[in-house]
Amino acid sequence: TEMITASQVGKVYRGGVPALTDVSLTVRKGELVAIVGPSGSGKSTLLHLMGTLDTPTSGTVRVLGLDLSEVSDGTLSAMRAHWIGFVFQQFFLGATLSAVDNVAQGLVYQGVPRGRRRRRAAEVLDRVGLGHRLDHRPARMSGGERQRVAIARALVADPAIVLADEPTGNLDSASGAVVLDLLHQLNREGTTIVVITHDTDVADRLPRRVRIRDGAVVADSAAVSGGAG
Ligand code: ADP
Ligand code: ADP
Repeated sequence: TEMITASQVGKVYRGGVPALTDVSLTVRKGELVAIVGPSGSGKSTLLHLMGTLDTPTSGTVRVLGLDLSEVSDGTLSAMRAHWIGFVFQQFFLGATLSAVDNVAQGLVYQGVPRGRRRRRAAEVLDRVGLGHRLDHRPARMSGGERQRVAIARALVADPAIVLADEPTGNLDSASGAVVLDLLHQLNREGTTIVVITHDTDVADRLPRRVRIRDGAVVADSAAVSGGAG
């Protein structure tokens, strides 16, 4: 099943150089993919397009078979709320909220009652190894724990796809390794995951690597024959 398909995608920001020139890329169900490239190569732009947060200047993006240029803004919001979970380098947790309440935020768009949101949030925190941190605010947690809270928030609505933007970028290597292990575990449990990173050590720990440079895909380990990639 094709979860995300970018076909000949180009993106030019107003008054800017092309951020993406001609990107074609398919992410299939069950994959764990790194999109790796130097700063300014177009990774965030591509992730935003895949996450329905922005639209391409040329080409098409399909998510779960839907051409994003053909659906309404309401449908795009519903797709983000139900199908796609986002994880960011900076965590973006509410400083005044406990871990449970931060994770429960991920269900606000679903119309789930507060008590059920909190119970579901506690379950997902347990799944990411933070069952003992339910009432902690971010200030009382380590960076790695904060990112696991953010991952739990991304998962709480049971999305088909998780898009992670430099998820280990603010972590020391030990915490980063824990987060990568968690992403592997979630992927084994069935979530399709796309990680963008400038860090080749991070990319090398993921099963498929798509290299991007100057807005174009220059290598894709899935395209190597013989399964050596
Ligand atoms: P990366 O994530 O690999 O660092 P980006 O996708 O952020 O790359 O950026 C790709 C190119 O697009 C860069 O030249 C960047 O300066 C430019 N760019 C990114 N976002 C914007 C924007 N909102 N407006 C104008 N130019 C942008
Ligand atoms: P609505 O259209 O109902 O206001 P939003 O677009 O604000 O919905 O949010 C839908 C989901 O997309 C939320 O989970 C939110 O975290 C995420 N989201 C919205 N805008 C951005 C953004 N600029 N970057 C990353 N994630 C975003």
